[in-house]
Amino acid sequence: MHAVDIGFSPDHFPQVHLFSYIDGALHCEGVNLESVADRFGTPAYVYSAGTIRSNFQRLNRALDPLDRLICFAVKANSNLAVLNLLAREGAGFDIVSAGELFRVLRAGGRADRCTFAGVGKTREEIEYALREGVYCFNVESEAELERINEVAGKLGLLAPVAIRVNPDVDARTHKFISTGKSKNKFGIGLDRAGDVYAKAAALPHLKIRGIQTHIGSQILEAGPFAEAAQKLLALVTEIKNRHDIEFFSIGGGIGIVYDPALASGDPAWWTSTDHPHRITTEDYASALLPLLTPLGLRILFEPGRFVVGNAGVLLSTVQYVKTTPAKTFTIVDAAMNDLIRPALYEGWHEIVPLKKPSAPAAPMDVVGPVCESGDFFAQDRELPPLAPGDRIALLSAGAYGFVMSSNYNSRPLLPEILIEGADVRLVRKRQTLEDLVAGESLTGDAA
Ligand SMILES: *Cc1c(COP(=O)(O)O)cnc(C)c1O
Repeated sequence: MHAVDIGFSPDHFPQVHLFSYIDGALHCEGVNLESVADRFGTPAYVYSAGTIRSNFQRLNRALDPLDRLICFAVKANSNLAVLNLLAREGAGFDIVSAGELFRVLRAGGRADRCTFAGVGKTREEIEYALREGVYCFNVESEAELERINEVAGKLGLLAPVAIRVNPDVDARTHKFISTGKSKNKFGIGLDRAGDVYAKAAALPHLKIRGIQTHIGSQILEAGPFAEAAQKLLALVTEIKNRHDIEFFSIGGGIGIVYDPALASGDPAWWTSTDHPHRITTEDYASALLPLLTPLGLRILFEPGRFVVGNAGVLLSTVQYVKTTPAKTFTIVDAAMNDLIRPALYEGWHEIVPLKKPSAPAAPMDVVGPVCESGDFFAQDRELPPLAPGDRIALLSAGAYGFVMSSNYNSRPLLPEILIEGADVRLVRKRQTLEDLVAGESLTGDAA
């Protein structure tokens, strides 16, 4: 990855993404984003294929000593072209619904490299995943074990299962994206896991294949991952001896840098270990390898955000600038229905103009047009002067961006554009107004 020069402090992201100013114009890889906005309009999501590829490869390399499978968490970004790119890199996939499995298969991914997670799998989803031959169901309750057993029996199949164990560690992340504390709805407590495995072993249509954990998302230190692995080691060994499992999945959750103000301007910051606000693949691997290697199992990783987060931006155009006695509001054409992270869990996105600014920054709110006070992208943020017609990019919007978008306020879903080098591909069309009402009718069909 080349060093980039974004925002007001250069070289913040030397190993994070391929968005940079070239001759004063923001580029994604070799492509000027103004030309992308001219061609496809705004708002629009743009992804850098080179960044996705590089992130995946960097993590895969760091974990090289292990027999491993990196299962990309599809919920972070499920565009078919992104999934196809990752399938070609050799990724497996962590899915949470029938729809995600359908996407993986449509994108050229393999079912036998998919793990199926989630607390609420329906009978229909279980049947579909069984017929397609998923690698494993990661099971979150005893009732789910019974249901999978029942569906498998009906189909005359053996269902591969792993139990998701909740290690009760504090991932030190936002409360809405922390999953590994005992008060969360996820997984089965450490104290009950042995019994639940015994129960699984007694069910005739199940095959115990592994053990899984996942402690949360946007975790910026290696410590909580190591703590989770440490707390599970004895159990994993016991389950391995008793049930002859193939794999241990440590889940996903590797965090990314959203706010460059938290980063050091020193390039060494990116390559040395143990800094707050950032975790490197080296930190992650060196904390986990000594714990995981001796297990003699295949290790699964389920990163989502880490692979795609910094690889995407949301392009938007300023519509109005409204000044009140209290504040300046810059009103843009993207909204919370396009990118809900700020409204949903105080997600923070760096905002940069497509034309490199020279004027000094001043505080403003950047807001969307949706009729909700939660519809903002930045509050009291120091940004360069922006005028109607100016275009901006919201950085690090590649994960939990488009996938969480909705048609709220009857706003059509955005296009997604994938760039590699000088190659620009529209990998999802913008919805039309007709698309908005497809499937509806004035009176409905009589039942
Ligand atoms: C959401 C999720 C992931 C991915 O989390 P990231 O923070 O995007 O890496 C992985 N595994 C499970 C079970 C998840 O629910």
